[in-house]
Amino acid sequence: MWIIPEREIAGLMTREAAFDAVEKVFAAMAAGDAWNFPVVREAIGHADALYGFKGGFDRAGQVLGLKAGGYWPNNLATHGIINHQSTVFLFDPDTGRPHAMVGGNLLTALRTAAASSVSIRHLARGDAKVIGMVGAGHQAAFQLRAALEQRAFEKVIGWNLHPEMLPNIAGVAAEAGLPFEAVDLPGLRDADVIVTITSSFAPSLMADHVSPGTHLACMGTDTKGKQEVEAALLARATVFADEIAQSTGIGEAQHAVAQGLIAEGAIVELGAVINGTHPGRTSDDEITLFDGTGVGLQDLAVASAVVRRAIEAGIAIEVDV
Ligand code: NAD
Repeated sequence: MWIIPEREIAGLMTREAAFDAVEKVFAAMAAGDAWNFPVVREAIGHADALYGFKGGFDRAGQVLGLKAGGYWPNNLATHGIINHQSTVFLFDPDTGRPHAMVGGNLLTALRTAAASSVSIRHLARGDAKVIGMVGAGHQAAFQLRAALEQRAFEKVIGWNLHPEMLPNIAGVAAEAGLPFEAVDLPGLRDADVIVTITSSFAPSLMADHVSPGTHLACMGTDTKGKQEVEAALLARATVFADEIAQSTGIGEAQHAVAQGLIAEGAIVELGAVINGTHPGRTSDDEITLFDGTGVGLQDLAVASAVVRRAIEAGIAIEVDV
């Protein structure tokens, strides 16, 4: 079995490789060649932690495994390490033998950013110039860096409930040589693409804060009860998702479906657009909304790419199990 420690991931994984891995696995999911297993997520009654497993099998890519981990809210204050902790385990699909154990913390950020980036590549208008951010926490910087590679953006605008965090995304705009402007929520009407990445349980972005023709990647809602955008916005949009069951169960669509504003059957897998079995955006006025809840197969796809790279680079540690 190979071990790829967390400290090696930054040197091995690129945004391009994460994009390719996630795009391929979304395509495989929509073609019925890859599927996710039911998610387990439990409050363990210790250290206030939420712990669980996200697993799946990609028959097309021959990747089998799971990500184990979760959220330990006191880590940073008590132990000086980040609160999100995860590890990916891969197994040989032919024999069930363990194949690799891979640090999953940075990979989670990269695969999440890759998902919204894949949605922008396939659904945003080609002439998009202004990107708007709702959220400015840990994930937001990864999201923005990946998104900026998808169109010839000329300006970044952003809103965050805690304005003192906005320098996180202003810094990414500066890295890319782009101007950044802090706006109020109605100011997001100037955006052609909007990424939402907050941990909110109540909507911030309302339906009338979004202009016709906008593409939204809603990435923060990954748990029952969370919500970033007004449910009525989904009724104005064509809604796409990484996986429809997760979208209606723990994603942004949970609210719009429960309120009868959209039908589950109207939600389209992003992979169908990648595969060309759904046209995606069909007009410049259409609002497209990607509900990215984060599936286990994304984790397995990027971990598998890292293992290949680590073995090639002679960095992977081999152990007997
Ligand atoms: P973080 O703690 O670093 O940042 C949280 C962000 O949410 C900040 O911008 C904060 O100002 C904002 N926020 C907090 N409370 C808010 C409220 N009530 N209203 C509006 N904004 C509020 O977290 P992070 O690591 O950046 O993660 C952000 C979200 O993304 C979390 O909900 C996390 O679970 C989710 N996430 C999703 C995926 C996925 O695959 N979809 C993957 C990883 C994380």
